[in-house]
Amino acid sequence: MPMIEPKDAIAQILANTTVLETELRSLEETAGSVLAEDIVSRHPMPPFDNSAMDGYAVRAADIADATEATPVSLKLIDEQPAGRATDVAVGPGTAIKIMTGAPVPAGADTVVQVELTTEQDGTVDIQAAKKAGRNIRLAGEEMAAGTTAVPTGTTIDHVVIGVLASLGYAQVSVYRRPRIAVIGTGSELVPVEAELSPGKIRDSNSYALTAQAKAIGAEAVRMGVAVDTREETTKMVRAALQQADIVVTSGGVSVGEYDFVKDVIEELGGKLHFWGVRQKPGKPLAFWTIGDKLVFGLPGNPVASLLCFEEYVRPAALSMMGREKLFRPKVAAALTHDFKKKAGRHHFVGALVERTETGYKWTANGRQGSAMLRSITGVDGVAVIPTDVTEMKAGERTVVQLVTLPEDH
Ligand code: AMP
Ligand code: MG
Repeated sequence: MPMIEPKDAIAQILANTTVLETELRSLEETAGSVLAEDIVSRHPMPPFDNSAMDGYAVRAADIADATEATPVSLKLIDEQPAGRATDVAVGPGTAIKIMTGAPVPAGADTVVQVELTTEQDGTVDIQAAKKAGRNIRLAGEEMAAGTTAVPTGTTIDHVVIGVLASLGYAQVSVYRRPRIAVIGTGSELVPVEAELSPGKIRDSNSYALTAQAKAIGAEAVRMGVAVDTREETTKMVRAALQQADIVVTSGGVSVGEYDFVKDVIEELGGKLHFWGVRQKPGKPLAFWTIGDKLVFGLPGNPVASLLCFEEYVRPAALSMMGREKLFRPKVAAALTHDFKKKAGRHHFVGALVERTETGYKWTANGRQGSAMLRSITGVDGVAVIPTDVTEMKAGERTVVQLVTLPEDH
């Protein structure tokens, strides 16, 4: 199978990705999900005229001549705290003490904030005139009943959750988030808590990829590690397929003697779309579909694995959950040093990005190596150096993806 270009790889993946069905989710579980219904206000917002200040509800006409030197004295006839509505009305020469958020009593048309008053013995001295309507938040001034407050397709964040709560939506319809099962493969791998013995290394991919899946808001399941036998690999992939929308394997997808992942997934009905992408790291990346399920065979080298998740699995998972923006912001950034590579593959390089007055700059994060997680620790960018480029001088620009920022296109 010929190597394909990174842009064709992502295009093929997205062409085979469908948005998941909708589900009702409780408000508190919706941050990061995409709304699948218009949120319409069921009542005016605010629902009633209310005070924007702690102070006194009065008639503007009564205090038209009030100044600090010549205050107007009004008789206090009631108190109006937030949370209940008095049935006493403000008449000429009277005032009702009122708190922020409390309904404006009948008869009052303005509120004087407490700072412009003095109260004693059942009367209040008002020290400034206020026009009618001051310090009153009118019913419906934010929106009338029936207004679309948040349109379908919006990604729910904390602000939207606040709007939903204020409008009484305890449950909302959202696109289901994908369940992602993560499998490590390799007889050399031991779990994090194990001591190393000769020839063994610790599995890092299954933990790191699961965290990457969780960071999307997907439901992530770390299946564990399959040793390099056909039987074990089959067993674990089958179990993953039973529960997940996306299966991610790492390792075992190259051309080694014990690389069973490809055979196994094809035996389980996987339709191969590509195997081999013109990129470094991550050349052995493979992609299959089984019905609506996506299966990604990520390379075993840790940097390649995480990079391929970022570049290919993440956009697909976001698309499944109804997101329209799938890709991180891209900027043109100037190299701070010379850079050499071989022609023949696009290079993705972990970049430390700096924003200066004259634009973005980037620096490779030390020695690069697809087995060295250190080379991408703390990076905030992935620089993309095209396949035919072999040499770059300090000051030349490349595209850098800002991988710590939310998707913008
Ligand atoms: P493979 O593609 O299976 O040949 O693996 C390529 C390299 O990645 C080998 O050096 C493996 O030991 C390493 N590797 C594979 N899977 C993992 C993993 N889950 N955690 C850490 N290293 C891994
Ligand atoms: Mg292996």
